[in-house]
Amino acid sequence: LPPRWCMLPQEKEFYPRPRPVRESPAAIKLSATASCACVDGGRAFYNPGLPTVTCQCLVYTLTQAFAVQIELQPCPRCPVERHRYIGPDPRDTGLFNYNNSSIFSHELLNEYISAFSSAETPFEPWVNQISRRYEESQQDPFIPFISGGLFRSLWFAYARLVQFEGDKSCPSCGIYPDNIIWDGVSIAFGRKHVNGELEPPTLVGKDAVVHSSRPCPRQEWLPD
Ligand SMILES: [Zn+2]
Ligand SMILES: [Zn+2]
Repeated sequence: LPPRWCMLPQEKEFYPRPRPVRESPAAIKLSATASCACVDGGRAFYNPGLPTVTCQCLVYTLTQAFAVQIELQPCPRCPVERHRYIGPDPRDTGLFNYNNSSIFSHELLNEYISAFSSAETPFEPWVNQISRRYEESQQDPFIPFISGGLFRSLWFAYARLVQFEGDKSCPSCGIYPDNIIWDGVSIAFGRKHVNGELEPPTLVGKDAVVHSSRPCPRQEWLPD
Protein backbone atom coordinates (compact mmCIF):
# COMPACT_ATOMS: atom_id res chain seq x y z
CA LEU A 1 0.00 0.00 0.00
CA PRO A 2 1.24 3.52 -0.70
CA PRO A 3 1.38 5.80 2.35
CA ARG A 4 -2.05 7.25 3.13
CA TRP A 5 -0.91 10.83 2.45
CA CYS A 6 -0.07 10.10 -1.21
CA MET A 7 -3.31 8.27 -2.06
CA LEU A 8 -6.18 10.00 -3.85
CA PRO A 9 -9.56 9.92 -2.06
CA GLN A 10 -11.11 7.57 -4.66
CA GLU A 11 -8.23 5.04 -4.51
CA LYS A 12 -9.05 1.74 -2.83
CA GLU A 13 -6.79 0.08 -0.27
CA PHE A 14 -6.55 -3.48 -1.59
CA TYR A 15 -5.85 -4.95 1.84
CA PRO A 16 -6.64 -3.57 5.33
CA ARG A 17 -3.97 -1.05 6.29
CA PRO A 18 -1.84 -2.54 9.10
CA ARG A 19 -1.00 -0.57 12.22
CA PRO A 20 2.57 0.74 12.50
CA VAL A 21 4.96 -1.75 14.14
CA ARG A 22 6.25 -0.14 17.35
CA GLU A 23 6.85 -3.20 19.54
CA SER A 24 8.53 -6.56 19.03
CA PRO A 25 6.25 -8.56 16.71
CA ALA A 26 5.24 -12.15 17.50
CA ALA A 27 6.94 -15.00 15.64
CA ILE A 28 6.48 -14.66 11.87
CA LYS A 29 4.73 -17.78 10.57
CA LEU A 30 4.42 -19.28 7.10
CA SER A 31 1.07 -18.92 5.32
CA ALA A 32 -0.36 -19.77 1.88
CA THR A 33 1.19 -16.60 0.37
CA ALA A 34 4.70 -17.57 1.55
CA SER A 35 7.07 -18.21 -1.35
CA CYS A 36 10.64 -18.46 -2.59
CA ALA A 37 11.77 -16.29 -5.52
CA CYS A 38 13.75 -19.18 -6.96
CA VAL A 39 17.21 -18.88 -8.47
CA ASP A 40 15.84 -20.05 -11.86
CA GLY A 41 13.32 -17.17 -11.93
CA GLY A 42 10.32 -19.34 -10.95
CA ARG A 43 8.50 -19.32 -7.63
CA ALA A 44 7.74 -22.05 -5.08
CA PHE A 45 4.91 -21.72 -2.56
CA TYR A 46 4.59 -23.01 1.00
CA ASN A 47 3.47 -26.62 1.30
CA PRO A 48 1.97 -27.36 4.76
CA GLY A 49 2.78 -31.06 4.23
CA LEU A 50 6.56 -30.51 4.19
CA PRO A 51 8.83 -29.86 7.20
CA THR A 52 9.65 -26.31 8.30
CA VAL A 53 12.48 -24.78 10.34
CA THR A 54 12.47 -21.83 12.76
CA CYS A 55 15.28 -19.30 12.48
CA GLN A 56 15.99 -15.88 13.91
CA CYS A 57 15.52 -12.75 11.84
CA LEU A 58 15.90 -9.05 12.59
CA VAL A 59 12.87 -6.78 12.28
CA TYR A 60 13.85 -3.15 11.69
CA THR A 61 11.27 -0.55 12.73
CA LEU A 62 11.36 3.25 12.80
CA THR A 63 13.08 3.45 16.18
CA GLN A 64 14.82 0.12 16.85
CA ALA A 65 15.32 -3.44 15.64
CA PHE A 66 13.98 -6.64 17.24
CA ALA A 67 15.26 -10.22 17.05
CA VAL A 68 12.21 -12.32 16.12
CA GLN A 69 11.58 -15.99 15.30
CA ILE A 70 10.69 -16.69 11.67
CA GLU A 71 9.32 -19.93 10.19
CA LEU A 72 10.91 -21.06 6.91
CA GLN A 73 10.65 -24.08 4.63
CA PRO A 74 13.57 -25.38 2.54
CA CYS A 75 12.70 -24.63 -1.10
CA PRO A 76 12.05 -27.85 -3.08
CA ARG A 77 12.66 -26.11 -6.45
CA CYS A 78 16.04 -24.49 -5.79
CA PRO A 79 19.33 -26.46 -5.88
CA VAL A 80 20.07 -27.80 -2.38
CA GLU A 81 23.54 -26.21 -2.29
CA ARG A 82 21.97 -22.72 -2.59
CA HIS A 83 20.20 -23.13 0.80
CA ARG A 84 17.12 -21.22 -0.37
CA TYR A 85 13.99 -21.05 1.78
CA ILE A 86 10.33 -20.34 1.30
CA GLY A 87 9.66 -17.36 3.56
CA PRO A 88 6.52 -15.67 4.90
CA ASP A 89 4.96 -12.53 3.41
CA PRO A 90 4.06 -10.55 6.57
CA ARG A 91 2.55 -7.56 4.71
CA ASP A 92 -0.71 -7.84 6.70
CA THR A 93 1.25 -7.04 9.85
CA GLY A 94 2.97 -4.04 8.23
CA LEU A 95 6.27 -5.77 7.50
CA PHE A 96 8.33 -6.25 4.35
CA ASN A 97 10.35 -9.48 4.15
CA TYR A 98 13.52 -8.62 2.25
CA ASN A 99 15.52 -11.86 2.48
CA ASN A 100 14.08 -13.96 5.36
CA SER A 101 16.79 -12.63 7.72
CA SER A 102 16.16 -8.88 7.49
CA ILE A 103 12.56 -7.67 7.75
CA PHE A 104 11.54 -3.99 7.60
CA SER A 105 8.43 -2.19 8.78
CA HIS A 106 6.34 -0.43 6.12
CA GLU A 107 6.37 2.58 8.42
CA LEU A 108 10.17 2.80 8.18
CA LEU A 109 10.23 2.41 4.38
CA ASN A 110 7.36 4.87 3.90
CA GLU A 111 9.19 7.35 6.13
CA TYR A 112 11.92 7.55 3.50
CA ILE A 113 9.29 8.17 0.76
CA SER A 114 8.01 11.03 2.88
CA ALA A 115 11.53 12.38 3.53
CA PHE A 116 12.76 12.50 -0.06
CA SER A 117 9.48 13.76 -1.46
CA SER A 118 9.26 16.66 1.04
CA ALA A 119 12.92 17.70 0.86
CA GLU A 120 15.83 16.35 -1.15
CA THR A 121 17.11 13.52 1.04
CA PRO A 122 19.86 11.24 -0.24
CA PHE A 123 19.99 7.71 1.15
CA GLU A 124 23.18 8.00 3.19
CA PRO A 125 22.26 10.98 5.40
CA TRP A 126 18.83 9.50 6.06
CA VAL A 127 20.31 6.13 7.03
CA ASN A 128 22.69 8.04 9.28
CA GLN A 129 19.75 9.76 10.99
CA ILE A 130 17.97 6.46 11.60
CA SER A 131 21.22 4.91 12.92
CA ARG A 132 21.51 7.74 15.46
CA ARG A 133 17.88 7.27 16.48
CA TYR A 134 18.59 3.56 17.04
CA GLU A 135 21.59 4.45 19.19
CA GLU A 136 19.32 6.58 21.37
CA SER A 137 16.86 3.72 21.90
CA GLN A 138 18.92 2.39 24.87
CA GLN A 139 18.14 -1.09 23.69
CA ASP A 140 19.91 -4.02 25.33
CA PRO A 141 21.38 -5.90 23.49
CA PHE A 142 21.80 -3.13 20.95
CA ILE A 143 21.03 -3.99 17.30
CA PRO A 144 22.48 -1.31 14.98
CA PHE A 145 20.66 -0.09 11.85
CA ILE A 146 21.82 -1.35 8.46
CA SER A 147 24.29 0.21 5.99
CA GLY A 148 23.28 2.69 3.31
CA GLY A 149 24.04 0.25 0.48
CA LEU A 150 21.72 -2.43 1.86
CA PHE A 151 19.01 0.14 2.60
CA ARG A 152 19.16 1.37 -1.01
CA SER A 153 18.70 -2.14 -2.47
CA LEU A 154 15.88 -3.10 -0.16
CA TRP A 155 14.07 0.23 -0.46
CA PHE A 156 13.96 -0.11 -4.26
CA ALA A 157 12.77 -3.72 -3.87
CA TYR A 158 9.95 -2.40 -1.64
CA ALA A 159 9.13 0.57 -3.89
CA ARG A 160 8.63 -1.82 -6.85
CA LEU A 161 5.95 -3.67 -4.85
CA VAL A 162 4.02 -0.63 -3.59
CA GLN A 163 1.00 -0.23 -5.84
CA PHE A 164 1.34 3.41 -6.80
CA GLU A 165 -1.47 3.47 -9.30
CA GLY A 166 -0.93 5.53 -12.44
CA ASP A 167 -3.76 7.92 -11.60
CA LYS A 168 -3.09 11.61 -11.03
CA SER A 169 -5.48 14.36 -10.09
CA CYS A 170 -5.37 18.09 -9.50
CA PRO A 171 -7.99 20.15 -7.64
CA SER A 172 -8.25 22.55 -10.63
CA CYS A 173 -7.69 20.31 -13.68
CA GLY A 174 -9.52 17.17 -12.49
CA ILE A 175 -8.31 13.62 -13.02
CA TYR A 176 -5.56 12.80 -15.55
CA PRO A 177 -4.33 16.38 -16.14
CA ASP A 178 -2.80 17.04 -19.60
CA ASN A 179 0.47 18.25 -18.12
CA ILE A 180 2.17 16.87 -15.04
CA ILE A 181 5.38 18.35 -13.66
CA TRP A 182 7.66 15.73 -12.15
CA ASP A 183 10.47 16.55 -9.78
CA GLY A 184 12.90 13.74 -10.52
CA VAL A 185 15.86 15.50 -8.91
CA SER A 186 14.58 14.78 -5.42
CA ILE A 187 15.91 11.23 -5.62
CA ALA A 188 18.28 10.92 -8.59
CA PHE A 189 19.28 12.23 -11.98
CA GLY A 190 18.32 10.22 -15.07
CA ARG A 191 21.12 7.86 -16.06
CA LYS A 192 21.72 9.69 -19.38
CA HIS A 193 22.49 12.93 -17.50
CA VAL A 194 25.10 11.31 -15.30
CA ASN A 195 28.39 12.19 -17.00
CA GLY A 196 31.61 14.01 -16.12
CA GLU A 197 29.93 17.41 -16.53
CA LEU A 198 27.24 16.88 -13.92
CA GLU A 199 27.79 19.31 -11.06
CA PRO A 200 25.75 20.25 -8.01
CA PRO A 201 23.34 23.16 -8.59
CA THR A 202 25.13 25.17 -5.88
CA LEU A 203 28.38 25.31 -7.92
CA VAL A 204 29.19 28.77 -9.38
CA GLY A 205 30.26 28.57 -13.03
CA LYS A 206 33.34 30.45 -14.37
CA ASP A 207 31.24 32.59 -16.75
CA ALA A 208 28.44 33.27 -14.27
CA VAL A 209 27.18 36.87 -14.17
CA VAL A 210 27.95 38.56 -10.84
CA HIS A 211 25.14 40.54 -9.25
CA SER A 212 25.78 42.40 -6.04
CA SER A 213 23.36 41.33 -3.36
CA ARG A 214 20.74 43.83 -2.30
CA PRO A 215 21.28 45.25 1.19
CA CYS A 216 18.76 43.88 3.65
CA PRO A 217 17.32 46.65 5.84
CA ARG A 218 16.73 46.35 9.60
CA GLN A 219 18.90 43.31 10.19
CA GLU A 220 18.47 41.69 13.52
CA TRP A 221 22.05 40.83 14.51
CA LEU A 222 24.46 41.99 11.81
CA PRO A 223 24.89 45.78 11.59
CA ASP A 224 24.81 47.27 8.02
ZN1 LIG B 1 13.30 -21.59 -4.58
ZN1 LIG C 1 -3.96 21.55 -12.16
